[in-house]
Order: sequence, then structure tokens, then C-alpha cells
Amino acid sequence: MSGIRPFPRKTIAAVAVIGVAGMCAARNTSFHNEAFAESSKSRWGSGGPGFGFGTNARMGTYTLRLESFQQVNDNTKRLRFQLPDPASNMGLYLTSYIFTFDKPKDALFNIAKPYTPINNFDEPGYIELLVKKYPDGRASGYLHSLQPGDTLKIRGPFPDYKWKTNEFEYVNLIAGGVGIAPMYQLIQGILNNPDDKSKIKLIFGANTDKDLLMKEELDAFEQQFPDRFKVVYTVSDPVEGSPFRKGRITKELLEKELVGPKDSKTTKIFLCGPPAMEAAIHGRQGWISLRKGVLEELGYTRSRIHRF
Ligand SMILES: Cc1cc2nc3c(=O)[nH]c(=O)nc-3n(C[C@H](O)[C@H](O)[C@H](O)COP(=O)(O)OP(=O)(O)OC[C@H]3O[C@@H](n4cnc5c(N)ncnc54)[C@H](O)[C@@H]3O)c2cc1C
Repeated sequence: MSGIRPFPRKTIAAVAVIGVAGMCAARNTSFHNEAFAESSKSRWGSGGPGFGFGTNARMGTYTLRLESFQQVNDNTKRLRFQLPDPASNMGLYLTSYIFTFDKPKDALFNIAKPYTPINNFDEPGYIELLVKKYPDGRASGYLHSLQPGDTLKIRGPFPDYKWKTNEFEYVNLIAGGVGIAPMYQLIQGILNNPDDKSKIKLIFGANTDKDLLMKEELDAFEQQFPDRFKVVYTVSDPVEGSPFRKGRITKELLEKELVGPKDSKTTKIFLCGPPAMEAAIHGRQGWISLRKGVLEELGYTRSRIHRF
């Protein structure tokens, strides 16, 4: 993931949302925590309310307090924030993300960037972010600089893929680096929902062994749900004696590991990783040229694929 941008496509949407958020900032010089009128009942598996934010979730601006953090590897932290209302889950649903919205000391304006909460939404009172710090990264650098007790303004939740319980029998997740964050949100939401019977296969690629983020949690899920969840790890530059497959996510690997009938409504593929990885797997579509990705070469149509 290092050196290249994950979540490339959303950045365009993100810019639009930043614009909206920026307008809000202009209107509200001081932010207010909105009242938590919504129920703290989980929306896992409900599919979420969509962009209208319906009746059961509300987008709001919140000031969170950093409770604790954990340095996961050289460049990534897990940050746990307290929500203002300990009985609320902020209306987060499968799948959604938030915008951090704050002004680092040396910045002229607020910097808004999207991040994907990875906590269990059934446990109210906090959210947790997995944040990779980029060299000179304004938002990620700011998030990494926070100390317990510091506050962070966020806005959300914003909808991504609208997950419906049991919509697919086979769910394939292809993740690269910190692209595991939305995948983890989905995995957790599906597996923690006793009504959801979908089977999940995660193919997770990373640069080095220590970049296999959330591995402990993923392994625990694999043990807890052996019939429903399987992970394949692959590492480009493994340490000596590494137990993991060596190499990137290739066509051959996908051909071997993806589950479910290829062009059937029972199968879905989710993809999130660096642009080069996404371009190779999903292909490129521009005004002039169209390059097929390996998934299409393997017989999966684009409608079967969702990119976070
Ligand atoms: C919907 C969505 C969800 C996201 N969820 C997460 C998440 O859960 N965790 C997470 O860590 N990130 C996530 N991201 C990415 C995140 O929003 C920021 O883009 C990222 O943290 C970099 O922002 P920055 O302000 O620190 O870097 P900037 O100040 O914008 O850039 C600083 C330098 O880093 C480089 N750079 C910027 N972004 C990247 C990148 N992604 N890869 C490589 N180099 C980069 C720039 O080219 C520049 O040289 C998500 C993005 C989207 C669209």
C-alpha cells in the first residue's frame, strides 16, 4: 500500500463531500454535537438508509475524545474514540464511513478525509479507526499526532455499499494493505449477524508480514466461523521463514481461491486496495480506452464487483 493511493475512486466522491463539509464548516464556525435522537439499536444487516439517511440513521457532526490508541506497525495506528453519547453507535451501518474534519495546527483550513470505522457497531459508545500514516499526510499525520484526551471532529455516517442480509451466498473480498478497513467492517457485520448465512472468502495482500493488519481478529473469526469465513494471506516481500504465500494477488491466485458460481447473482466480489492493484484486478475504463481486469478475464462481469 505504501507509495500509492488506496481508495482511489472514492476520492472523487470524497472531494464532493469535502465540499459539502466545507460549506458546513463555513456556516458553523463552532461545531455542535447533535442530539443523539436515533435509537442505539444496531443497523447491521439492515442495509442502511441510503443517501437520504431515511428514518433510522442521521448524519451528524460529532466531537469525539480519543480514549486510547495502539501502534499496529511502523505506519499504522488503531485509534479508539469515545462517542458523546455512550448509548449510541452514531447510526453507523453496513457499510458506511465517516469524515474526520479538523484543523491541524499549521493548516489554514479544516481538512476533511474519509475513514472507515472498524469497531463492532453493536457495542455503543465508541468508534475505532485504523489509520495508515503517509509521509506528509495531513489528515493521517494529524490523526497519528492525537494523544488520549484530545478531541476530533467527525461528520457521518456516509453510505457505501448497501449491504442486505443474505443478499449473496458467496462473498469474495479482495483487499490490499489498509484496504482491509472496509472489508473488516463488512466481515464483522456479516458474521456478527446471526441471521446472515453468507459465506466469505478474503484474499488479503500486503507488502510485508507486519502489514497484514487486523490479522489476529481475522484469524479469530476464521476459527469461530470455520464454515463461513476463510482467509488467504499473500505477502509481496515476506520475512525469512514467513508462513504466508509469497507474491501479489495474481490471476492464478484469484482463479484458485474465489468462491461461488462466476456469473450468478449469488456471488459478489468486493475490492479495495492501491490503484495499481485495483486497476489490474478490475481493469480501467476511460473515455478512450478500456482495459479488462483479471476478474473479467476470469468471467466475472463488472456488475458482480463493488469497489470500496
Ligand atoms: C471511503 C474511504 C474510506 C477510507 N478509509 C480509510 C481508512 O479506514 N484508513 C486509512 O488509513 N485510510 C482510509 N482512506 C484514505 C484516507 O481518506 C486518506 O486519503 C489518507 O489517510 C491520506 O490522507 P492524508 O491527508 O494523510 O494525505 P495527504 O495530505 O492528502 O497526502 C500526503 C502525501 O501522501 C500521499 N498520499 C495521500 N494519500 C495516499 C494514499 N492513500 N496512499 C499513498 N499515498 C498517499 C500524497 O500523494 C501526498 O504525497 C479512505 C478513503 C476513502 C475514500
